Amino acid sequence: MRSSRSTKATTSSPARATRRSTPTACTASFGGKPYLDQLKRAAKDCKAIISWGSCASWGCVQAARPNPTRAVPIHQVIHDKPIIKVPGCPPIPEVMTAVITYIATFEKLPELDRQGRPKMFYSQRIHDKCYRRPHFDAGQFVEAWDDESARKGYCLYKMGCKGPTTYNACSTVRWNGGISFPIQSGHGCIGCSEDGFWDNGSFYNRLTNINQFGVEANADQIGKAAIGVVGAAVAAHAAVTAIKAARDKGGKA
Ligand code: SF4
Repeated sequence: MRSSRSTKATTSSPARATRRSTPTACTASFGGKPYLDQLKRAAKDCKAIISWGSCASWGCVQAARPNPTRAVPIHQVIHDKPIIKVPGCPPIPEVMTAVITYIATFEKLPELDRQGRPKMFYSQRIHDKCYRRPHFDAGQFVEAWDDESARKGYCLYKMGCKGPTTYNACSTVRWNGGISFPIQSGHGCIGCSEDGFWDNGSFYNRLTNINQFGVEANADQIGKAAIGVVGAAVAAHAAVTAIKAARDKGGKA
């Protein structure tokens, strides 16, 4: 974004640097000029930089281990400008549009979280607003892609869904004008808007520790706990009903 009222975003690609932490050369080029030089030239007069997508925000697949080209995200190259990260692979179009619209309309940058993402779109996990969440809480999980639970639309946690650790707006804004999003299509979230998601193991590995979710120790325990709570509630209800019935009977006698 230029320091005037212009809203020019400077880049949407990660920079490729040499093995030193301070980039001195570049392997990617555009129009015969190193990307890194063009990025720095464009950034010089900008008020802020919007890092579109996970490549610009985190480095994404180029920066995945062993990162042979030493690709780095924008914030590791430009240090003297505010950087707004809009990660996602790809990012949601409405989110991209809204960030620019916000800046152009209010002439200020949106409030960002600790990682530099606009809070208005990245303050909640996919899991927090997922329409399959009641099944998670009830301990109802898909165990195989073609099982009966899959047909019923149960939770995809056991199939590797990364929704519990992924911050993005997919489960609220959705895609293609709000028509759907990956989980609604039957596939778990792969966590594409999180830093280093390519290096976090298979997309189909189950998250083993999601302790940060309030009282929820992990999803497996949740299932058992839910069954236990329901069982206790049923037993209590039955006991109260029996007492009431006995009392009514006694009154009539
Ligand atoms: S684990 Fe995935 S599918 Fe299940 S409720 Fe959370 S986000 Fe939705």
